Amino acid sequence: MKKALKKITASLIVILLTILSGLITVTFSPQMLFAKKIEHQAFTIYSNTDFDETHLVSRLDDAYALIKHSELHDEDYHFDVLLAHNHFFNKIEDLQGKGVIARATAGYITLKVPIDPKNNHVQGSVGKINLTYLLAHEMIHNLQANKYGLLNFSPLKHPPFWKLEGYPEYIARRNQLHANDYSLRSEIQRYVELMKASNNMFVEVTEGHFVPFYYYKGRLMVEYLMDIKGMTYDEILKDDTSEEVVFQEVLQWTKIS
Ligand SMILES: [Zn+2]
Repeated sequence: MKKALKKITASLIVILLTILSGLITVTFSPQMLFAKKIEHQAFTIYSNTDFDETHLVSRLDDAYALIKHSELHDEDYHFDVLLAHNHFFNKIEDLQGKGVIARATAGYITLKVPIDPKNNHVQGSVGKINLTYLLAHEMIHNLQANKYGLLNFSPLKHPPFWKLEGYPEYIARRNQLHANDYSLRSEIQRYVELMKASNNMFVEVTEGHFVPFYYYKGRLMVEYLMDIKGMTYDEILKDDTSEEVVFQEVLQWTKIS
C-alpha cells in the first residue's frame, strides 16, 4: 500500500513538473506556438491568422519613430509582437494577470485584444485606444528590461509604479506632449481635478482612454523631472526621493499645492 502511494506521489510530482516546465517554456518562448511569422525591420510579427500587414507595419514604424527619442533605444534590439486575441496562448498569458489589452514580457509584446491597424486603434475595456501609442508604450517596457535586466523589471521586482509606467507613457505620448497647444501646467491641473472627481482611481487621460491614475500621475512626474529639471530616466531610477516629495514639488511648480 505504502509503495503504491509512493508511486502515485512520484507520478504526480513528475506531471506537475512537466506542466510547470511547459508553462515556463511557453512564457519565455511563445513564438513557437504561432503559425504565421512576418519580418519587418526591427520587428517580427506572429499570428495564427491573416491580418492587415500593410497598416500594422506602418503603425509599428510610427511607434518605432517615437521610441527612437528614448535614451533606452537600442538599434540592435529586436521586437517580437504576438497577435494573440484568438490564440490559446492568450489564456496561458492571462496567468500573469487578467484584464489588460497588451503586455510586454520577457522580450516580446502580446496584443491580447483584436486590433484595427487601418483605423489605428484597439478596443479597450472602456473606449478605444490608439494603437501606435500602445505599441510604443509596450516597446519601452521591453527596452526597460533590456537595459536594466528582466529580473529588475518583472512582476515580482520593479521600480515604483510611477517610474515603471510613467516613462513609457512619456515616450508613447510624445506627439501629444509636443503639440503647440500643450501645457504641462494645465495638464497637471487637469489631473488634480480628475482625481478629485474620480471614485474608482481611474482617470480619462485622453478622450475616451481611461487608465489607472498612476499612469497619468507617473507620466506627469517623469515629464516634469525630464523636461523641467533636465533629468535622464536613468537618474530618475537611481534617485530615491519619495513619490510624495516629488509630487509635492510638481504641485508647487504648478502653484496648486
Ligand atoms: Zn505599461
